[in-house]
Amino acid sequence: MTTVERDHAYILQTYARTPIEIVSGEGSLLYDKEGKSYIDLGSGIAVNTLGVSDKGWCRAVSAQLSRIQHTSNLYYHAGGAELAETLAARTGYARVFFSNSGAEANECAIKAARLYASRRHGTDCYHIITLQNSFHGRTLTTLAATGQEVFHRDFTPLTEGFHAVLPTMSEIRKAVDAYQTAAVMLEPVQGEGGVCALPKDFLTELAALCREKDILLIADEVQCGNGRSGTLYTYMQYGIFPDVLTTAKGLAGGLPLGATMMTDAVAAYFEKGMHGSTFGGNPAATAGALYVLSQLTDDFLADVVKKGEMIVDRLTGKRGIVAVSGLGLMRGVAVTGDAGKIIDACRARGVILLRAKNMLRLLPALNIPDELLSRALDIIAEEAAREAT
Ligand SMILES: *Cc1c(COP(=O)(O)O)cnc(C)c1O
Repeated sequence: MTTVERDHAYILQTYARTPIEIVSGEGSLLYDKEGKSYIDLGSGIAVNTLGVSDKGWCRAVSAQLSRIQHTSNLYYHAGGAELAETLAARTGYARVFFSNSGAEANECAIKAARLYASRRHGTDCYHIITLQNSFHGRTLTTLAATGQEVFHRDFTPLTEGFHAVLPTMSEIRKAVDAYQTAAVMLEPVQGEGGVCALPKDFLTELAALCREKDILLIADEVQCGNGRSGTLYTYMQYGIFPDVLTTAKGLAGGLPLGATMMTDAVAAYFEKGMHGSTFGGNPAATAGALYVLSQLTDDFLADVVKKGEMIVDRLTGKRGIVAVSGLGLMRGVAVTGDAGKIIDACRARGVILLRAKNMLRLLPALNIPDELLSRALDIIAEEAAREAT
């Protein structure tokens, strides 16, 4: 049997996979089973922050693997403690909880909001306002937080108390008045929903409202965090400081790691036994994250911004392209033609892209060489023009 046949025979068929089998890579180049090479503008959905098999990253993770791969959270370990200290120093958050995925990082944030609100405002204060078109994960509770009905179908009843509204202050105020609200939860740059950066004045005003009413602001930076938007975390560009910040995807550069960071005011309500994870913050994953963060210096991030501007400059106004959205190296390209066809055509020519709604989604490794990015952008522009309607 081939890999595809085995997959189709034995794996739960929940993914509409692209018909290629990637077997190796180097930096921002991927190689499939037939030896064909691709410029990778997906980085495993914003996971391979430093590309494939980055030498320093491999060394850091391998060194940890050869000492000990896992200890459980029953014992102390240096990597987890050091990573927590690094995140605190670089963000200002007091404490972090480590998990293994974005959904779990968000679950922890939601538990934190319920805990905080119930202690301060009573157990009826548990509602969470989210935004339409958001994406927060696939567990029943993070699905409830996800403001896209299409994901809810067949899985009801979901966790109650979530209300998705349009991203305007009047809609938020209406919801906050209608429900005893524990938190507002949002992605500063919506990923799956269409690579849409929230307006700065909206987020500033929202943060002020939350502060005034003692409602927690939860920023889901699972996708837009870890340097992707051009700053270490996206909130840093908005001049706000969310009470809870979640991240995952790119944090460990290719190993499963989620993080839920919070202020002291929120963290103070957690007691031993209230939350946990067997794998969360495992030594291998935290070694990967420590290495990734060591690379995300100010100079490196300035380069991410430049590469992002190159995408905007080279694609904006081209035939078949309506607009380029997003921040840094998290970009959406709205096209007049069929996004799926453009993505297939680009892949045939050796460029791997992602999709969000009818948009091309570009999430390259943050260290993609300009020359590779430039070549890929030429191909995207040509194929978008060819499919233009
Ligand atoms: C991918 C994603 C998640 C879910 O992360 P998983 O690791 O797949 O559980 C949550 N929120 C956002 C914004 C995401 O992009």
